[in-house]
Amino acid sequence: MSEFLDRCREAVGAEHVLTDPADMAGYLTDWRRRFTGKALAVVRPADTAQVAAIVKLCAAHRVPIVPQGGNTGLVLGSVPDQSGTAIVLSLARMRRIRALDTINNTMTVEAGCVLELVQNAAAEVGRLFPLSLAAEGSCTIGGNLATNAGGTAVLRYGNARDLCLGLEVVTPQGEILESLRGLRKDNTGYDLRSLFIGAEGTLGIITAAVLKLFPQPAAQLTALAALQTPDDALALLDLAQKRCGAALTAFELMSDFCLQLVHKHFPQLRLPFPDAYPQYVLLELSDSESEEHANGVLEALIGDALEQGLIQDAIVAGSLAQSKALWSLREHIPLAQAEEGKNIKHDISVPISRIADYLRATDALLHAQFPGCRLVTFGHLGDGNLHYNVSPPEHESPDAFIARQDAINHVVHDSVAAFGGSISAEHGLGALKIDEVIRYKSPIELELMRTLKHALDPLDIMNPGKVVRA
Ligand code: FAD
Ligand code: ZN
Repeated sequence: MSEFLDRCREAVGAEHVLTDPADMAGYLTDWRRRFTGKALAVVRPADTAQVAAIVKLCAAHRVPIVPQGGNTGLVLGSVPDQSGTAIVLSLARMRRIRALDTINNTMTVEAGCVLELVQNAAAEVGRLFPLSLAAEGSCTIGGNLATNAGGTAVLRYGNARDLCLGLEVVTPQGEILESLRGLRKDNTGYDLRSLFIGAEGTLGIITAAVLKLFPQPAAQLTALAALQTPDDALALLDLAQKRCGAALTAFELMSDFCLQLVHKHFPQLRLPFPDAYPQYVLLELSDSESEEHANGVLEALIGDALEQGLIQDAIVAGSLAQSKALWSLREHIPLAQAEEGKNIKHDISVPISRIADYLRATDALLHAQFPGCRLVTFGHLGDGNLHYNVSPPEHESPDAFIARQDAINHVVHDSVAAFGGSISAEHGLGALKIDEVIRYKSPIELELMRTLKHALDPLDIMNPGKVVRA
């Protein structure tokens, strides 16, 4: 392997082939710190030609490649296994904005661009790049596309796939597939771009993308409503969509227990209501006219919802700082749950209309089989996607509880299947759910996935052991 590493050094420069354990450490452990893998080296190419050169070397030497962006993924997709045979190929140095076209409303960026910087670059020219998630300060566009990331604006703008008009990809053979035309219409055969989006680096390496931009809204308003039940939240969603149409850009559900955890671990974040209510909805309106217009629409909506008994109370953020404070409560839920200790995460979706029934049924199953377990339920209700996380009973050893993880996953995921849902709505499969998903996909779906994997990556060097077994 020393010849292979020498050739890598020739391709990208010796200082960008890391082999010292201390230098590699940050690339080998996942964001949740649950797993640490081993690697032959971490290789940091500067441009697409260097990526292609490294992939060709890997193909020649049969060295597996684990692509990595910001390493914020939650399903162990971006870290290598413990064999020590793979390289981590970090796209972090590839962070140029190659083009910005305000007439075509597109931006062409390299895969290592951090999401927040892309949002800022769009804002500087009066445009909006709407992908938004709590990891935006460190996740990259390449990782967002490879996981088809969702986040809080999917309700209005769609997920990463919907926000991408073209890709540049290095194939597992080291060829460069250049398709950065930025067309909104192109029906010339198979949609190859879509294959690579959501493939979690198992079919090729995304090196650049054309992203879709939108006009910046004239005003954005955030409100927090207090409710009794998820059924009421669904009725509120229906009312809000009738009243606000496309102006409704976020609709997030959080249970009272979520906010209690946030308050316990981040007491500086103030709870907004004097009384506690069982559920809360954080909603956001983006208005193309004016703040006054947005205020009028939101106040009418809240008035109607109060009158119909769908909500018990509501707060409308009166300033940007207040809006940020409300979002901060939502964004601190996963952090607060982590502070509380080990827990079991689920990222599920069911048809929006069935969410309340799903929660009723699954909460009951879990409480019956795992008495005292604490459910941390929050997420993107407007997309039918919830983070349905389970914390151990207060006085039970977390490790004993985590040991029952498979049984708990089966209860949650079997129920998802019964309600016609998906066991991974936005985080992907990675190595974490590669076996779990086999329970829920049909044989023909699995066979077609394997066929695609074999066809594109016959040597199985692209992120092996993730998504689908070759
Ligand atoms: P990484 O973690 O580095 O990689 C993720 C996967 O993509 C891996 O399989 C990797 O091999 C592959 N990959 C990375 N770059 C490339 C590339 N250039 N070409 C090919 N494959 C590549 N996700 C959501 O969808 N919605 C959320 O709301 C959300 N919230 C989050 C909040 C927090 C606090 C955190 C930590 C994560 C959250 N995530 C969320 C998870 C989400 O998947 C990632 O944050 C993000 O999309 C991954 O980007 P990354 O650059 O960190 O990718
Ligand atoms: Zn999410």
